[in-house]
Amino acid sequence: MLIDMDDILCRFSHYQLIFYIRVFVQVFSGAQKCKHTTSKLSQVYHCTGCGTFALHPLGVLKTNEKNSKLVKFGIPTGPPVSHRCEHCGHPHHIGGPIWSGPLHSPDFVQEVLDTASEKLCTFKRIQGVLSVIKEELLDVPLYYALEKLSGTIHVETPPMMSIRSAILNAGYKVSFTHMNRTSIKTDAPANVIWDIMRCWEKEHPIAKKRLIENTPAYNILAKQLEKDYSFAAHPAANPESKKLGFLRFQANPLPHWGPGTRATAMVGENKIKKSKRNQGKRKREASQESSDANQD
Ligand SMILES: [Zn+2]
Repeated sequence: MLIDMDDILCRFSHYQLIFYIRVFVQVFSGAQKCKHTTSKLSQVYHCTGCGTFALHPLGVLKTNEKNSKLVKFGIPTGPPVSHRCEHCGHPHHIGGPIWSGPLHSPDFVQEVLDTASEKLCTFKRIQGVLSVIKEELLDVPLYYALEKLSGTIHVETPPMMSIRSAILNAGYKVSFTHMNRTSIKTDAPANVIWDIMRCWEKEHPIAKKRLIENTPAYNILAKQLEKDYSFAAHPAANPESKKLGFLRFQANPLPHWGPGTRATAMVGENKIKKSKRNQGKRKREASQESSDANQD
């Protein structure tokens, strides 16, 4: 949504609101602001084998060493990955551009948390989601899903607290994203993440018959472990929002919950949209009424 808004606002066109999202937009105008846009957008190189991603920003900002207010706009060199993934040897898909700037303002999130009334029916949900958002790493736009990391190398899924502790014990930052309860957002480079997974596999070895040559699992586990990681509980591994028992990831009330498909009606053998069948309905009824009146 942010990238759409950014693109559209840059062209001074209109933004169409869809479904139930209400958006309040503050527009900052000026050529300089538009130039900043490129540094907030990135192409994504997504590995088809192991799912590792790398970002390639469309533009870079260079601040002057003597005067931090002076900014130079540059074009980055790349790509950020080789022809084949350095972890599993598979090729990449290229996607984007995506929004890679900060997703929220922590001050604003805190303000909403402070002012949200407990009388609201959805207060617990608001409190839970915003608390997770507040804890999210601001400068990390994408995340890993824990079960996908373990699924790629066919190893049993480590407990979330263990993997978060291993990342923290290695000196990196980690958070959830409000989008996914098994998410890992981190500033640790991908090679550290795969090294931690190799370390986990060393402690929980997989059956060797599951390793088929040239698969991502085979190639990732064929690499030597760079160092040993500690999965011992780190004091910051359990986030505050979880300790306080907030409603963080509320399950949908029903399966397939959300906007449904458009209503359709059967006309003879054909299925047509109800909206189409009802086109001119009032006019038809009015003319029917007037012809009935004339006959009387
Ligand atoms: Zn890969």
